[in-house]
Amino acid sequence: MSPAKKTAIAKTASAVKKSAPTKKSPRKSTPSTWTDHAIGEPHPLATATSDDAAPLGAHVSIAGGMPEAALRSREIGASAAQVFTKQANRWAEREIEPTESAAYRAAFATTDVRWQCAHDSYLINLASPDPVLRTRSIESFRAELRRCHALGLDALVSHPGNYMDERAAGLSRNAEAIIEALEAEVGPTRLLMELTAGQGTVLGGTFEEMADLLDRLPAPLAARVGVCLDTAHIWAAGYDVCTDYDGVWDRFGDTIGFSRLGCLHLNDSKAALGSHLDRHELIGEGTMGAEPFRRIMTDPRLRHVPRIIETPKGDAPAATDARMLSLLRSFAAGA
Ligand SMILES: [Zn+2]
Ligand SMILES: [Zn+2]
Repeated sequence: MSPAKKTAIAKTASAVKKSAPTKKSPRKSTPSTWTDHAIGEPHPLATATSDDAAPLGAHVSIAGGMPEAALRSREIGASAAQVFTKQANRWAEREIEPTESAAYRAAFATTDVRWQCAHDSYLINLASPDPVLRTRSIESFRAELRRCHALGLDALVSHPGNYMDERAAGLSRNAEAIIEALEAEVGPTRLLMELTAGQGTVLGGTFEEMADLLDRLPAPLAARVGVCLDTAHIWAAGYDVCTDYDGVWDRFGDTIGFSRLGCLHLNDSKAALGSHLDRHELIGEGTMGAEPFRRIMTDPRLRHVPRIIETPKGDAPAATDARMLSLLRSFAAGA
């Protein structure tokens, strides 16, 4: 996810917090001023979902309460969804009570969504050399896992940490923290470590380093862990999926392996190949262009991998996301 998006989400989240005491939301019955459909109903740009080979959806806001994510997913015609389970830019933790979990599950039961994940907080750094920050990060990461388990989510997407001092030591700290958290928090949710753009001292910017991290986990825990591949991140990390699509995926298969690929984040990039900058763009409108996405949507090796867009939403989130999902479906259909 891009810093710009983080800011947008943070703004939304704080706006929600301020308005939270008013409780009752008018969204369900009031037609929006910028769309020509009732909120919560499929947007005119949303296309059918039942024939998706792999679940396809977007990161959707939980503003107004977690069940609202279901309405937003239905609006855009999604068969997959990604959410935050708290304010992603704050340390404050919360637990999911049974009533909230029940409401969330009931809301999603009315949608076509059949795969769900959460993205964890940006503040977590499991590789930090600072013992205070690392302990705090492990606590926060455990709370992320608990909330996912309580909601029955399929996966939790998490970024490898920032090593700050020395790469090898950072990898060890990161692996040990993952082991500690997975041993303490057992449940149905699979952990997916996300490949990064490799900016600064962040870990996980190469397939080899990600494989190294995963290989440090003991077998019983490793079975609960996979990877999430963000197209914008690997592009910025220097993997040229435009001119060497097969070469990049062959290298992925040889190092990490397709069996460990649990999710695709489909984002075009504002940043250049190898720039190490994490800047998402609308699909087909960035430096990557439409072609790699066309290939991904028809690649038999990726056929069953759930896919989530984290593209800019602009002033019309439902219309923009619905248009993106519709575009990807047209690629899947060979258009
Ligand atoms: Zn990103
Ligand atoms: Zn991410």
